[in-house]
Amino acid sequence: NDFMKISGLCAQIDDNGLPKPILRGLDLEIPKGQVHAIMGPNGSGKSTLSYVLAGRDDYEVTDGSVAFDGQDLLAMSPDERAAAGVFLAFQSPVELPGVNNANFLRTAVNAVRRARGEDELDAVAFLKTVRAETKRLHMSDEMLKRNVNVGFSGGEKKRNEVLQMRMLAPKFAILDETDSGLDIDALRVVADGVNSLRGPDFSALVITHHQRLLDYIQPDRVHVMAKGRIIHSGGPEVARQLEAQGYAKYLEAAA
Ligand code: ADP
Ligand code: MG
Ligand code: MG
Repeated sequence: NDFMKISGLCAQIDDNGLPKPILRGLDLEIPKGQVHAIMGPNGSGKSTLSYVLAGRDDYEVTDGSVAFDGQDLLAMSPDERAAAGVFLAFQSPVELPGVNNANFLRTAVNAVRRARGEDELDAVAFLKTVRAETKRLHMSDEMLKRNVNVGFSGGEKKRNEVLQMRMLAPKFAILDETDSGLDIDALRVVADGVNSLRGPDFSALVITHHQRLLDYIQPDRVHVMAKGRIIHSGGPEVARQLEAQGYAKYLEAAA
């Protein structure tokens, strides 16, 4: 299965003029229809992995490959990746002052629809769809009139990300610590959002520090990441072991 196949991925960032390697030969395969989790200590490169998959240009890929749905993901622009069905929910959702949330969402949805050869949604059709979604997520429609994420609480930002994800209906979603700082209600919103999309044509990579989120999103596989590599992979029991015992066992085994 090569739906999402990351092989030997190495990436670095410019750290005040010096190249700083962060990903150091990362291998990971996520089959179609599966939800995988990555857990790992702070600084292991989890967010870097999600940025590299999204195509953020401050990270330089120095080796390795990423095959996605039969395409070379690393050769695609961020827009092309989104159009191909890759969606990213970031640890800190970006605030866009002066950009109306509903317009932003409609533009993103229509760009993806165009790329898929589907008709664009006009304002009326879009509002109908988005209102059904906001209702589902217990969001007030007032949030659609505000600027993207500006002045949103942590929980509102997460709801807004889940709204974007459901509206874009991606083939592959990456959620980078979407659970950090969330109360239990917001956590459930995120988990329900992922679970509602689960099916044979949806895969996800859920990056988290905590077993807690994985009580709600049952992963097919759990990967342990440290120092820019996947150092252990297993079933959902890995997350429970990590919660109980910490990373030491895996770090020692990998050393
Ligand atoms: P994680 O998400 O697992 O906590 P990150 O991917 O955020 O890890 O960071 C991995 C390592 O790369 C850390 O040591 C971090 O300090 C470093 N790093 C990330 N971004 C930058 C940057 N812009 N400049 C310098 N170092 C960075
Ligand atoms: Mg971190
Ligand atoms: Mg991170």
